[in-house]
Parts: sequence; C-alpha cells; structure tokens
Amino acid sequence: TPPRHVTARVAPLGTRQVLALVEDRTRERRVEAIRRDFVANVSHELKTPIGAIRLLAEAVQDASDDPEAVERFAGRMITESERLTRLVQQIIELSRLQSDDPNDGHETISLDDAVAVAIDAVAIDAQARGLRVVASGEHGLKVLGNREQVTVAIGNLVANAVNYSPDNSAVLVTVRAVDDTAEIAVTDQGIGIPADELERIFERFYRVDPARHRSTGGTGLGLSIVKHVAATHGGDIRVWSIEGQGSTFTLSLPRVLDENMVSASPNKED
Ligand code: ADP
Repeated sequence: TPPRHVTARVAPLGTRQVLALVEDRTRERRVEAIRRDFVANVSHELKTPIGAIRLLAEAVQDASDDPEAVERFAGRMITESERLTRLVQQIIELSRLQSDDPNDGHETISLDDAVAVAIDAVAIDAQARGLRVVASGEHGLKVLGNREQVTVAIGNLVANAVNYSPDNSAVLVTVRAVDDTAEIAVTDQGIGIPADELERIFERFYRVDPARHRSTGGTGLGLSIVKHVAATHGGDIRVWSIEGQGSTFTLSLPRVLDENMVSASPNKED
C-alpha cells in the first residue's frame, strides 16, 4: 500500500512560541512529578491501615480462646477499615476535583444552603458530644462556581472544627460580604495549631501529630481539598490559630453581586 500523505501547513516557530513551548514542557514535567509523588503517597497511606488490619486479623486468630481480646482486636479492625474507607473516598474526591474542568459548573450557589448542608453533616456527632455548631452573619449571599465543590470545602472546614474541639464547646460559622467576595469563617475553641505547622497543614496527607487529639481517623486530605477548591474558584483560604485556644479558617470566594439590584423594590426593607 502506498504511504498515506498528510499535508499540513507548518509555519516556522517564532522565538516567543519556542519559549512558550519550553515553558509548557517544564510545566508538564512538574505536573507529572506531582502526580508521581501523589501516587507514591497514596500507596504509602493505603498500606498503613491495610497492614494494621492484617496484623489485627492475625491477632484475632491467635487469641481465639480469649473472647475479650478478640472483641478488642475486632473493634480496632472496624476502626481501621473505616479509616481506609474515608481515605479512599477523599482520594477519589481529590482526583475528581483535579480532573474537573474549572470552567464547568458556573452555578449560582447559595451560601445559606451550603452552610446548612455542612452543619447537617456534623449534627449527629456534634450533638452526641454536646458541641454547639451555630451559623451566623449575613443571609442571602451567593457565590459563583461548582456547587458540589464549594459544599465539600465548607463541609471539610466544619468537620475539622468539630473533630479538633473538646466536647461541650462551640463552633461558629460566620458568613459575610467583604467587597466583591463572600467570606465563610469557621471558628472553633479547639486544640489549635502550632504556628510552625500552619504552612504545612494544607499539604496533602499532612497531619499535625495525630497523637495530640482524640480523632485519629483523619486522612490529611481535607484541607488540601479546600485549598484546591479555593484556587480553582479564584478565592483563597486563610487560617489563624492559637495553640490550645482555637482556630479560625476563612474561605473567601468571589461573590455574585446583587443580580436583582435593578429590579428590586426600593422599599423592600420595610
Ligand atoms: P485531617 O483528615 O487529618 O483532618 P486535614 O487536611 O483536614 O486532614 O487537616 C490537616 C491537619 O490540620 C489535621 O490533621 C490537624 O492536625 C490540623 N487541623 C485542621 N483543622 C484543624 C482545626 N480546626 N483545629 C486544629 N487542628 C486542625
């Protein structure tokens, strides 16, 4: 068979195009390196609970004549497998976020709704521990973006506030408009974060010494998801914290400026 001919018009590359090409390749390589790191980290993080479950299963086999020990080991197997489930869920969430087209989902999102969903998600746990989770601030604020992602981000902040707080304390979720952004601030009276760890907590899989709090089930992925959502939405995430006293995480997102301004009745307020 004769070779097939493909004709294409090839214009010579200008210096600028060559530079752009080089930059693009560099970026590609960096993205590739990040991906490889991520896969390596994921494998490492998955091996830990899987290894623990295996050891516990062996312990159960050895302790078959000691019902109390069997009970104890089985309980820990359940805890470890729950942790494994959370880990897999968050890894899937993160990789979905990363493959999402950032231009996707330009929806108008009600912050009242997103905050209500986030608070609902922790309600049972909070109630069992005598924790009050209270929403306050302005109502009716809206942001533009992907509803699911924004809801997950706020949910992660509220879940952390509950996780790292003592029983019977309070978590406050405050929404307010600041210029053309909306700020969602989640304040807790929890264990706080040491100043020299503040930079690192947004890294994937990073956890401040897990031994210092009751919740050992974390994955270290929650805040990296929040950071990712903030970045893809043109917003940002900031944190203030005093160790032993509490933390405030503030997510700020571009606000939908009053859509109905023109048609709104001037006397609507009274
Ligand atoms: P994790 O699943 O461990 O909670 P995150 O990425 O959500 O993962 O958080 C990373 C680390 O930051 C946590 O392990 C915890 O040490 C710290 N952290 C996050 N939120 C809070 C908070 N509200 N109070 C104290 N420490 C927090």
